[in-house]
Amino acid sequence: MGLLACSVPLAAALPDHGAVEPIPSAPVAMTIPREPVLIPQTVEVTGEDGGAIIDWRESVPGGSPNGGRLTGAVRLPASGSGYYTYDPRTQREPGGIATRWGTTRLVRELTDLGTWWARTHPGAGALGIGDLSRRDGGRIDGHSSHQNGLDADIRLPRRDGAQGAANPGNYDRELTQDLVDRLVARGANLILIGPSLDLHGPRGVVVRWPNHDDHLHVRFPG
Ligand SMILES: [Zn+2]
Repeated sequence: MGLLACSVPLAAALPDHGAVEPIPSAPVAMTIPREPVLIPQTVEVTGEDGGAIIDWRESVPGGSPNGGRLTGAVRLPASGSGYYTYDPRTQREPGGIATRWGTTRLVRELTDLGTWWARTHPGAGALGIGDLSRRDGGRIDGHSSHQNGLDADIRLPRRDGAQGAANPGNYDRELTQDLVDRLVARGANLILIGPSLDLHGPRGVVVRWPNHDDHLHVRFPG
C-alpha cells in the first residue's frame, strides 16, 4: 500500500513524451577535435602561506639583535624536511607567518639543520622551530633580541619523540647535546641554554641564560 501511494506522484511528475526521438548521427567526414590533455601541476602546500618555495635573496641585518632591522628578509616555510614551526606564545603549530623571517644565512642553516636531523636521527621526531624575526626586523612580543634576522629558537628534542613543549624533565639530553654540537660546528656564534639543562659547549658560544629551559636560542653571523 505504501509503495503504491508513493508511486502515484512520481508517475504524475514524469513528462509523457511517447516515443523516444532518434539521435542524429554525425556525417562520416566530420572530425571531432581532441580535448587538450591536462597535466596536473604539482603544488606543495604547507600551510597558510601556501607553499614551501624559499625566495632566496641577499639579506642585510641592520643594527643589533636587541635593536635592529632587516632588509631582504627570507621567509622560513612553515615546515620542511626534519622540522616544523610553532608559535611560542600559544605553543601551537605552525609558527606565525609574521615572525618566520631571517637572513639568507639563518634560513639556510635552519633548513639544512632539518635535513641533517632527519637523516641523522630518523626516529627522533622533527625539530620545532619558534620565532625568527619580523620581515623588517624590530621588536617581537616576548623577546628582547630577534630584531635583525640572526636569531631563532629551537625546542629541545623530547625523549618520547613527540612534537610539543619540552622542559628539563622530558628533554632528551643526548639528542639536545648533539643538536648543540651541530650548531657550534656550523658556526653559530651564540647558543643560549637554560640553567636547568645538562648541556655544554665552547665558553662564550654556549651560554646559560634564564628563561631558556624549554628551548635553545641560536644566533648565526649575518
Ligand atoms: Zn630566542
